[in-house]
Amino acid sequence: MQTKTKGLIIREQTVGESDKLVTVITEDFGLIKAFVRRAKTIKSQNLSATSLFAYSEFSLYRSKEAYVIDNATSIEVFFNLRSDIETLSLAQYFAQLACFLGTEEQPMPGMLRLLLNALYLLCQGKKSHPLIKATVELRMLALGGYMPDLTACYRCGTYESEIMYFDMEEACIYCKDCYRNNAVELPLAVVTAMRFICFVDLGKVFSFNLSEENMVLLCSTVEKYLLSRIDGRLTTLEFYKTIVI
Ligand SMILES: [Zn+2]
Repeated sequence: MQTKTKGLIIREQTVGESDKLVTVITEDFGLIKAFVRRAKTIKSQNLSATSLFAYSEFSLYRSKEAYVIDNATSIEVFFNLRSDIETLSLAQYFAQLACFLGTEEQPMPGMLRLLLNALYLLCQGKKSHPLIKATVELRMLALGGYMPDLTACYRCGTYESEIMYFDMEEACIYCKDCYRNNAVELPLAVVTAMRFICFVDLGKVFSFNLSEENMVLLCSTVEKYLLSRIDGRLTTLEFYKTIVI
């Protein structure tokens, strides 16, 4: 049966002589894999609409082994992502992360929206890369079922103390009086930013700021938490880090 959905291409692989297999994060079916038949010969509009990072409207049907895209109209191609290697590699990292954290055949409008907003911001170049990276990582983890419990101290229920501790293993926080071994010490501003990223409406999720020092702490904490939850090698993150260091 033919169906239509909007989605973002997050992976493309060539298959055989002229077909390609794309991974798409869609509005209606979550993560799907779909073949683009005769990808190298179809008209160019279809081609750019099924390229990496194209956000398009797809007309597709289900064959035995996978979906098949037989028509695609691009809505946004995020051309500016290719303007520099750091921006492009960060976008590729977000795409790989979505492959790890996305769920197949289950609607994931939140994850699609988060990714689209992040790609728009990367193209605009107005927000810093560390802010965009930490926000995407933490919110995507939350959407993918790894939301840490940041509401209050896990032991005594205190909402705020000047210094708080984030326990990565248990994914919870403690106040200054309930310090636990191995928990990461964080100033309240960083915990407040983490709460904001997890709980605020998706349209506002990138609208916060931190001092440079606290941004570094936020980034390192969120990345460590992410790496403790992802089962697999994030080659795109490794590549991104070779560029920014
Ligand atoms: Zn406490």
